[in-house]
Amino acid sequence: MVHIVGAGPGDPELITVKGQRLLKEADVVIYAGSLVNEEILKLCKPEAEIYNSAQMMLEEILHVISLAEKAGKTTVRLHTGDPSLYGATQEQMDAMQARGIEFDVTPGVSSFLAAAASLKQEYTLPGITQTVIITRRGGRTPVPDTESLKKLAQHQTTLCIFLSVSLLPEIKRDLLSAGFKSSTPVAVVYKASWPNEEKIIRGRLDTIVQQVQEANIDRTAMIIVGHCLNSESRPKSKLYSPTFSHMFRQARI
Ligand code: SAH
Repeated sequence: MVHIVGAGPGDPELITVKGQRLLKEADVVIYAGSLVNEEILKLCKPEAEIYNSAQMMLEEILHVISLAEKAGKTTVRLHTGDPSLYGATQEQMDAMQARGIEFDVTPGVSSFLAAAASLKQEYTLPGITQTVIITRRGGRTPVPDTESLKKLAQHQTTLCIFLSVSLLPEIKRDLLSAGFKSSTPVAVVYKASWPNEEKIIRGRLDTIVQQVQEANIDRTAMIIVGHCLNSESRPKSKLYSPTFSHMFRQARI
């Protein structure tokens, strides 16, 4: 049996209770070494076989899994954040399905959520935006034309941009041409939730490139853009308003 598990964003305590149990029980662990905090591997049994997939190709990963299956062992395939986002998990799941290998998936706390927690920020604010777009900027990995940053940004939603901090100048250009003002607030969170390593940079579209350069951040960072970050003039929600009734509470005014 293979368990695909989301390890969370970096803080070893941000794995789910279920993910933690599966990791403790695993005979074989294949972890995404480029991003998973190795602290979390201290949960593994001393005799567990541990592989870092950063140095492996798809076929090698599948080979390790197949050998474990033949030996009746349990494998955890440990991905960073949540496995459903930018994890190249689909090709692994498809290959396991094709080979008749049984597997399941345990979700994890994605880094865009850890970044919100670090920023102490809600992404969906009443009267401002009710939508979050998760995306990346096209670079070495292309993004379909229909969902270029220029097009997505026209909606003026909250944007959580993965895998793109090295492309910040291009992002700034795209967002300005899509209609975001140069004063639009932007935050960059490096290693959100990692103990002692996290860095938070807050700025505006016209300052952020330089700020991030000065902080020497060129990877493992989440870029958040949008009016939700603007701390002035935030309308209050209806949910807790005294004039608003809903299923669980009557209006009081
Ligand atoms: N599945 C992962 C994303 C993997 S892609 C998730 O759900 O978070 C790797 C990208 O995720 C990085 O380039 C960066 O943009 C982002 N990322 C991963 N961990 C991060 C963290 N702790 N803080 C900020 N960004 C992070």
